[in-house]
Amino acid sequence: MAPAAPAGTVRQVNENQCQHCMPLGAIIALKGIAGAMALVHGSQGCSTYMRLTCVNHFNEPVDIASSSLNEKQTILGGEANLKKALDNMRRVYAPSVIGVLTTCLAETMGEDLDRIIRDYRKVNATGCPDIIPVPTPSYSGSHTEGYWAATKAVIAHYARPTVPHRRINVMVPHVSPADIREIQRLVALMGLECTLLPDYSVTLDRPFAGRYQKIPPGGTQPADIAAMPGAPLTIQFGATCPDHLSPGLWLEQEYNVPLVTLPLPVGVEAADQFLLLLEKTSGHSRPEALRNERGWLLDAMADAHKHNAEGRAVIYGEPELVYALTRACTENGIAPVVIASGTRTSRLAACLEPLLAGLDEQPVVQEETDFAAIESAALKAGANIAIGHSGGKFFTERHGIPVVRTGFPVNDRMGGQRILTLGYTGTLALLDRITNTLLEEKHGSYRKLRYEETHRTEIMEGI
Ligand code: SF4
Repeated sequence: MAPAAPAGTVRQVNENQCQHCMPLGAIIALKGIAGAMALVHGSQGCSTYMRLTCVNHFNEPVDIASSSLNEKQTILGGEANLKKALDNMRRVYAPSVIGVLTTCLAETMGEDLDRIIRDYRKVNATGCPDIIPVPTPSYSGSHTEGYWAATKAVIAHYARPTVPHRRINVMVPHVSPADIREIQRLVALMGLECTLLPDYSVTLDRPFAGRYQKIPPGGTQPADIAAMPGAPLTIQFGATCPDHLSPGLWLEQEYNVPLVTLPLPVGVEAADQFLLLLEKTSGHSRPEALRNERGWLLDAMADAHKHNAEGRAVIYGEPELVYALTRACTENGIAPVVIASGTRTSRLAACLEPLLAGLDEQPVVQEETDFAAIESAALKAGANIAIGHSGGKFFTERHGIPVVRTGFPVNDRMGGQRILTLGYTGTLALLDRITNTLLEEKHGSYRKLRYEETHRTEIMEGI
């Protein structure tokens, strides 16, 4: 059940949505499994929209199969189409893992996915890939819930009792491929090995290889996922992840792997929390390179605070990132005036409560919201900067509020897959972008005013 919302929280019904469909998040999670491919059980339109959204953000080919249900199958059942789609995928792509994701249509029809897949495997026993069903109707969640649901389903499918080993588990929420690489770098710098899930750091941000590969290299190996129950620890960046979707909690409950839940390491405090845990786990203190990175961030914060104090931010997107961005803003003197997420099932409100308690001005917090409500709240609060994905550009363009783009999707700029926000280095990059956006806005507006003042006569006379 969602936690009680703090005072000031507004729940809304969608109009111009701030989130995406549930299977879309599951597709991204599946891109983080080696040899995996997603099959969307529903109409062509669902998979086409999701493919386009991914391609425009990641700037990579993202092949997604569809069972292409139409009116006939809607009435008579989609089993034959689903089995044919599985045959086609195996023939054309030869994936070693197939995630079958339901849509609103398939779930409303009452498709018995488990039974259909069981039957398919019986008939195709030889050489059949692993097939993992994940129920993802969008009326029960957004892409955030879909992402967690698929990650949990993958672990539940592969995890086996394993002899204890030293490799820690790291579960990441939906962040950019560059952010995943940063987590991996920090863990490696601390001398630790990890199984990071889901790892789409390469599959959704491929180095140029000359030839197109239908199933790109990269992703977490199923054998490593199977061994996750033998890990000494799971670190899950999922402060806002609800229990029923939490892969780390599932591992703890099923296999007694201790779970430490952390917020995303954005900002000094959250990055310190992560690094301190790595120090404790590894038994080593951080290397000089990381001490320098922290020092550069502190230096940048001191340099920028006088500019950031003028920031009044509307922050929106997926709950985990929204929580992390809000922490980073408050750490840097930027007032979060509207905090919003389109996701329904999260712990965002409960996470924010202690953080916001000490603020002079209480922000408006919106969950399961839409851009109509965000726009209205942002205008009332006098927001002068937005931090979030490209979906906010319509209302921000209307009112001249600049957007610092981060999250998903960033489809109106290049490099959405490379936006780095995590760790000391990522926070520093984010902070510079926020500060420079505020500076550009300030200088641009008062120079314009000055010009208009000086040239009032010419402007009035249309010279
Ligand atoms: S809302 Fe449901 S039916 Fe519509 S595109 Fe999303 S998954 Fe498909």
